[in-house]
Amino acid sequence: MKIESLDLPDEVKQFYLDSGILELYPPQAEAVEKGLLEGRNLLAAIPTASGKTLLAELAMLKSILNGGKALYIVPLRALASEKFKRFREFSKLGIRVGISTGDYDLRDEGLGVNDIIVATSEKTDSLLRNETVWMQEISVVVADEVHLIDSPDRGPTLEITLAKLRKMNPSCQILALSATIGNADELAAWLEAGLVLSEWRPTELREGVFFNGTFYCKDREKSIEQSTKDEAVNLVLDTLREDGQCLVFENSRKNCMAFAKKASSAVKKILSAEDKEALAEIADEVLENSETDTSAALAACIRSGTAFHHAGLTTPLRELVEDGFRAGKIKLISSTPTLAAGLNLPARRVVIRSYRRYSSEDGMQPIPVIEYKQMAGRAGRPRLDPYGEAVLVAKSYEEFVFLFRNYIEADAEDIWSKLGTENALRTHVLSTISNGFARTKEELMEFLEATFFAFQYSNFGLSTVVDECLNFLRQEEMLEKTDTLISTSFGKLVSKLYIDPLSAARIVKGLKEAKILTELTLLHLVCSTPDMRLLYMRNQDYQDINDYVIAHADEFVRVPSPFNYTEYEWFLGEVKTSLLLVDWIHEKSENEICLKFGIGEGDIHAIADIAEWLMHVTAQLARLLELKGAKEAAELEKRIHYGASPELMDLLDIRGIGRMRARKLYESGFRSSAELAGADPVKVAALLGPKIADRIFKQIGRREVLPEIAEPTLPEKSPSS
Ligand code: ADP
Repeated sequence: MKIESLDLPDEVKQFYLDSGILELYPPQAEAVEKGLLEGRNLLAAIPTASGKTLLAELAMLKSILNGGKALYIVPLRALASEKFKRFREFSKLGIRVGISTGDYDLRDEGLGVNDIIVATSEKTDSLLRNETVWMQEISVVVADEVHLIDSPDRGPTLEITLAKLRKMNPSCQILALSATIGNADELAAWLEAGLVLSEWRPTELREGVFFNGTFYCKDREKSIEQSTKDEAVNLVLDTLREDGQCLVFENSRKNCMAFAKKASSAVKKILSAEDKEALAEIADEVLENSETDTSAALAACIRSGTAFHHAGLTTPLRELVEDGFRAGKIKLISSTPTLAAGLNLPARRVVIRSYRRYSSEDGMQPIPVIEYKQMAGRAGRPRLDPYGEAVLVAKSYEEFVFLFRNYIEADAEDIWSKLGTENALRTHVLSTISNGFARTKEELMEFLEATFFAFQYSNFGLSTVVDECLNFLRQEEMLEKTDTLISTSFGKLVSKLYIDPLSAARIVKGLKEAKILTELTLLHLVCSTPDMRLLYMRNQDYQDINDYVIAHADEFVRVPSPFNYTEYEWFLGEVKTSLLLVDWIHEKSENEICLKFGIGEGDIHAIADIAEWLMHVTAQLARLLELKGAKEAAELEKRIHYGASPELMDLLDIRGIGRMRARKLYESGFRSSAELAGADPVKVAALLGPKIADRIFKQIGRREVLPEIAEPTLPEKSPSS
């Protein structure tokens, strides 16, 4: 099917023709035949790289040019930025694009001016809870990676959000995009959607198992040169010799860093002088962005043409690695499976070195087929590689047979709703009532009937769990104690603040019971909620954390008995996480924190982000319920945001200054923005460098000319222009 033949305005068709897309891929053509451009609901369950985004684009553009508005829901922030960047190209067509991933208690009414809004499912849920008006104008919803309904963490929010959007706006088109799953027909039936199911790929995918020096696929085999002792390194070198790139998946961060290092000496030997120069530039940029041991190790790998990629890296570092790989400079990325989840980063060969993953309940377990397929699907860059290869590695003949049967020849599993537990439902029951979607238990059940859970199981199982949730919410005074379901002002705020009602209940109880409220008391209070992400306890941590608890016992609202082993161990994990935050707000360097807690910089930021949010919630709840701690929590919220002591707060309000520079200024006697405004610019430039100094002066409203940069950087126009 030619682009030219589509029922779309000429300028849209021209947009695609200009970018070299002349014809639809077969699954895309099938979607058009099944009503994609006529507003019909569709589920496309097709492999990675088979053009799901283009499907979404066509549906969105059609709808927008008819006066509608599109919402594109993604599971991860990184994916939201990737899609946002892509859709911004539509500005040529006069289409405005917005992105919303941040604070959960904002309405973001301003976003409504956009034609396409990209948001995570959590943010979409929070926009609904905050009764954002433009949500009613949405005419097409794209649910990307919809198979994540199966995820215990994110699935419930996604399905509730879809159910709410459909209830609010029954004529809205739903386009769900999914990896290959076993029960796509069931998911499509739930969404009242046509189904596009296909295994078609733009590049041939050769899947197989490497064993004893040979890569065996169903219909061919290839022996791999044994140039080093490590088989996976040999697999990498084999691809690089043919001008391809490699993605290697490992099951832990430690292994993924170790493999990138291991492969680096061999990869370095086959780099061109031009590659080395480009790689050195990327490595320098890594070092400019971060000063930790991990980033030094990453930079060293990058100079040799390899890199590692995992959630312990900060977003800028991950982006440097991704961009370097896309540009063909970085030849190998060794990654944890996070990279397989959605990001568009294909490679000629994908090597899955470990097909087992650790689970706290069952130890090392084989990964599900659906995860294998997501990793394998990254093989083969459309239009660039003649084919892609996905390689599993077997160490014995038995393993070889196992891998072939259970992955290469296996179908993906069915997905199952994870909504049916009190932990998953509690928050959604409260928000459904708070938003006026249900005023009685019957109406609530009727609403929940629209979920995938009710479709897969039955309402019967759900009714008991709903009763448990309602009892909890009444007991905690988030609902009125009447038969009619009405949320109290406390319940309404909890729903809008977008936290688990159990977290809110714990915070309120803690504030009521606390005898003193120190920084530690409040930090531990937020770390004791189920919304917090806790650090693991390592063997060497027990003694230190236990000693700390004994020395600071009076600062915790409650210390459980050490004889209650499980509860106490959990408590120690909370304290360990609180101590990370204590170090963070006392300006310990990121490298020190990483080494002390055995984590990456990315983890510090992820934990600080949640803690900042929960501290914001604490301040809001304390204010509403007139409890102590509102002021202290608000101060801590800001300190967690900047990772700094109270005396730096004024300086840190200057945009882009950062805690390290603020500290430098403070120690040199510039203790506030007012003091800085009267400072000698040469002195400030000597401390922070002329560019930054200039930026700061512009912000604080002083147009002082710095001698060495006077001419080029100070325009005639006003500082804000
Ligand atoms: P998916 O979301 O299914 O993983 P994408 O939508 O990201 O895949 O598409 C992968 C690549 O294929 C993109 O670079 C996209 O521009 C390209 N592509 C999509 N559809 C077509 C087409 N019909 N013709 C040529 N290239 C296409």
